[in-house]
Amino acid sequence: MTDTANRGAAAPGADEAVVMSGVHKWFGAFHVLRDINLTVKRGERIVVCGPSGSGKSTLIRCINRLEEHQRGRIVVDGIELTQDVKRIEQIRREVGMVFQQFNLFPHLTVLENCTLAPIWVRKMPRRQAEELALRLLERVRIPEQAQKYPGQLSGGQQQRVAIARSLCMNPKIMLFDEPTSALDPEMVKEVLDTMVSLAKEGMTMLCVTHEMGFARQIADRVIFMDSGQIVEENAPEAFFTNPQQERTKLFLGQIL
Ligand code: ADP
Ligand code: MG
Repeated sequence: MTDTANRGAAAPGADEAVVMSGVHKWFGAFHVLRDINLTVKRGERIVVCGPSGSGKSTLIRCINRLEEHQRGRIVVDGIELTQDVKRIEQIRREVGMVFQQFNLFPHLTVLENCTLAPIWVRKMPRRQAEELALRLLERVRIPEQAQKYPGQLSGGQQQRVAIARSLCMNPKIMLFDEPTSALDPEMVKEVLDTMVSLAKEGMTMLCVTHEMGFARQIADRVIFMDSGQIVEENAPEAFFTNPQQERTKLFLGQIL
């Protein structure tokens, strides 16, 4: 039986990939997330935008416990995040994350970067992990870079390796934190194209990005954050053409 079948179509919350309810977080005295309520359905693509420092990274980092929330509930793929390390590991196996700064291991080849987690976390035989990695490097259109080191690749290529590496774990949900912000302009498109094709294949995605063309193309919903709160959310067309809140209008006026 597949994992999905195991969970059962009728199980409560079965069509919800992520549920955040009443989530608060503080860094010391600083209240960084204020009553976040957000549901991501399976197959849904959500873009999160908002000014620098509004809590976007913190929000998505809470979903795989790179940051810990202090109040409210976060349920990922039916599993509630608690102090229980087993649950945290289980959730991290289902959630892929791509960062602004790629975070590849510089001393490992592209192929080794991709096979590390399948071999050590999934206990996959090396040969099989390498076949899988090559398939995913083909999917992000850089199979010829497999034996190189990250430092020998362009930023756009490194980011595509980071995406392939995440996909090697067969995640149910992909989190992106400004994946194109550190790239030279001519490399942005190749990474966005990869993300668009992933979206079209039905991946559940939560993307922090200010690439509004991308948001229009693939997002089911756009969420705008300011000062640790979700201020507004809407389908992309309505969000961009008819923002409701002053803060949203101000922000869009600055970036569009
Ligand atoms: P965004 O991604 O929207 O730019 P972040 O989630 O990175 O915002 O940060 C939100 C706020 O929390 C910022 O004011 C930032 O300085 C602060 N912050 C982020 N990480 C930490 C941390 N580890 N310790 C203290 N403050 C932090
Ligand atoms: Mg950020």
